[in-house]
Amino acid sequence: MKILLVDDTHTMRMLMTAILEDFGHNVICCENGEEAVENYLREHPDLILMDVVMPVMDGYQAAIKIRAIDNDWVPIIFLSTRADPRDVAAGIEAGGDDYLIKPVDETVLKAKLIAMQRIATMRHKLIGLSKDLEKANSVLQRQAEVDGLTGLANRRLLDRHLGMEIARCTRTLSPLSVIMADLDHFKTYNDHYGHLAGDACLKKVADALKSAISRSNDLACRYGGEEFCIVLPDTDKAGVVHVAEQLRLTIEKLGIPHITNGGCVSMSLGTSTTVPDKNCTAEQLIEGADQALYQAKLAGRNRVFSSASPCGA
Ligand code: GH3
Ligand code: MG
Ligand code: MG
Repeated sequence: MKILLVDDTHTMRMLMTAILEDFGHNVICCENGEEAVENYLREHPDLILMDVVMPVMDGYQAAIKIRAIDNDWVPIIFLSTRADPRDVAAGIEAGGDDYLIKPVDETVLKAKLIAMQRIATMRHKLIGLSKDLEKANSVLQRQAEVDGLTGLANRRLLDRHLGMEIARCTRTLSPLSVIMADLDHFKTYNDHYGHLAGDACLKKVADALKSAISRSNDLACRYGGEEFCIVLPDTDKAGVVHVAEQLRLTIEKLGIPHITNGGCVSMSLGTSTTVPDKNCTAEQLIEGADQALYQAKLAGRNRVFSSASPCGA
């Protein structure tokens, strides 16, 4: 262990250092409580062995300061000539973990060091475990927001993202746009090529959408089955119609053969745009885009329609 030894008596420091080094530990020495706090912060020792009565700052005050620092816990053992039970109690109260009366028997000291080391090791293991848990949790949280088949964001992330963007665009008075997109005659595709080919097609479409969405706050999500939702913050009506048309072309250009539907897979898209206010909801934006998508389907598919402002603005 790296041991911080705090004692104002030179001979005591020499004696203890010799014993501790003999036990195989590294020793850093200092002379009072103030230096102990400084060394604790700088050296990150595994254990502090500290005298009680010292000039400048005594051991109790130093322990109180060390415990007040929101840092890793290290064991503190007081070494003192004061043998009154009230002194022992005050040492523990100040944040000490043990209290030994000088002169300390070497065998007792060695045993106490082993016990403290055991606790410190256990604590390090726990810290390691909780870090592992934290990491696993954030991986799980990310997985919980990703669609398993396509790797796009799922509905959960869409809801969170759209909620945040509505709030942000409300504050900045910026336009916010949503695209709802749906593959055309995809049931026929599945019926003809099989479900696995359908899945592969969905992955290709998702990858193409992902690459076509360029701005960092834009989000493409798998809304359900063969439906996708794309959120475009700071994008006005002309902008979203342009992006939607680009996406339509991108999917068409993939050239995935389709038994009907004009020979290849295509996508219909509906857009909605609003400068949101506090009454505007994610549902209104999505509903607006969905109605425009419905119009695009009715008008013959593989096209883009845009809706009137869904929040009435
Ligand atoms: P429309 O042009 O009107 O959208 O017609 P459509 O056939 O695409 O629409 P419909 O809603 O009737 O059918 C959607 C089909 O999408 C149903 C199902 O076969 C297919 N589908 C939905 N989810 C998945 C999926 O995860 N994998 C595969 N392979 N197919 C899916
Ligand atoms: Mg469809
Ligand atoms: Mg559909």
